[in-house]
Amino acid sequence: MKKDSVFIYSDSLLSYRFSDHHPFNQHRLTLTIDLLKELGAIQTNDIIVPRMASDEELLLNHERSFIEAIKLASSGNLSKEKAEGFGLGTEDTPIFKGMHEASAGLVGGTLTAVDYVLQGKANHALHLGGGLHHGFPGKASGFCVYNDSAVAIKYILEKYNARVLYVDTDAHHGDGVQGSFYDDNMVCTLSIHETGRYLFPGTGNVNEWGQGNGYGYSFNIPLDAFTEDDSFLESYRAAFTEIAEYFKPDVIVTQNGADAHYFDPLTHLSSSMETYRAIPRLAHELAHQYCDGKWIAVGGGGYDIWRVVPRAWSLIWLEMIGWPNVSGPLPENWLKRWQPKAPVSLIDQWDDPVDMYKPIPRKNDIEEKNRQTVDRALYIVRQQLKRNHQKNGL
Ligand SMILES: [Zn+2]
Repeated sequence: MKKDSVFIYSDSLLSYRFSDHHPFNQHRLTLTIDLLKELGAIQTNDIIVPRMASDEELLLNHERSFIEAIKLASSGNLSKEKAEGFGLGTEDTPIFKGMHEASAGLVGGTLTAVDYVLQGKANHALHLGGGLHHGFPGKASGFCVYNDSAVAIKYILEKYNARVLYVDTDAHHGDGVQGSFYDDNMVCTLSIHETGRYLFPGTGNVNEWGQGNGYGYSFNIPLDAFTEDDSFLESYRAAFTEIAEYFKPDVIVTQNGADAHYFDPLTHLSSSMETYRAIPRLAHELAHQYCDGKWIAVGGGGYDIWRVVPRAWSLIWLEMIGWPNVSGPLPENWLKRWQPKAPVSLIDQWDDPVDMYKPIPRKNDIEEKNRQTVDRALYIVRQQLKRNHQKNGL
């Protein structure tokens, strides 16, 4: 029987771990699942154990020399000099024991999600262990080793010959995924992120529209620092809706980094849970409108693992399964279990407090600037949609 939604998970995903003090902390997966279980919103048979990605599958997006280097690093046998050339052994992306297996496991999770959805075994699949959007074919970067989404999209092209719309709402630019499909017109990428002026990785400019065959299939909305919910969502809705109409995808892949939240320690956007409630809602709607429901969602960044990520990521699953009325207090047992272990005071409601931050005087300027950014970014899309309308009008 076809399932509506599957949740890809196993404890093996927790082995992707750089160190005790690294900001990328998969304990957020445990916190999220535990929250969903307390709510009664996830059942054992919703959970699908991910497979491993094979070397052949990794090679769809990665260079053989890079995979060999990761394997050497994984067993502690890669020299420091060589590591540097592959983006390894840095403060951001240090080497850890078993890193090949752990990284290939994350890719396998996204491939498992793809097979469920593209083989028609489920409408939607969520793999929160994925979303490592900074990985490049021959280089690790920004906490990312293998790029699960890029491998999975190459796999979709090869195995299912479907047109993919990739939408990335992580606060950082989805540079690795964009780069893998920059000259490809079968894959359209949209990244909405904090401007790279002061934030890693620095790319994701409004005029990165793709090249060659891929020109007009890459879109970027770099938002001003301190952007709040209204402007984030106005930009997201305009871009996603119009690009879906322009590109008419067969399947939608969303990357759901939860690091645009006001509390996130690494970025400077000012989203609240309102944004994280709205992001999956529109993805869900457009997947049904254009793709017969085919929607694969992965995780990504998110560094306030206690107050932000469990709620934000639960909301993706709850949207997928159509759970009604997600508001009011969080399950008491969840709060009781985790508050003693948390270094911060947990938020005890699904929504953030209305006085979470002081209003900033530049708000109107920021909104106006973001509106201009969206207008510039979507120029090609709007020209094309206008032509389509004129044609249809004749
Ligand atoms: Zn990020």
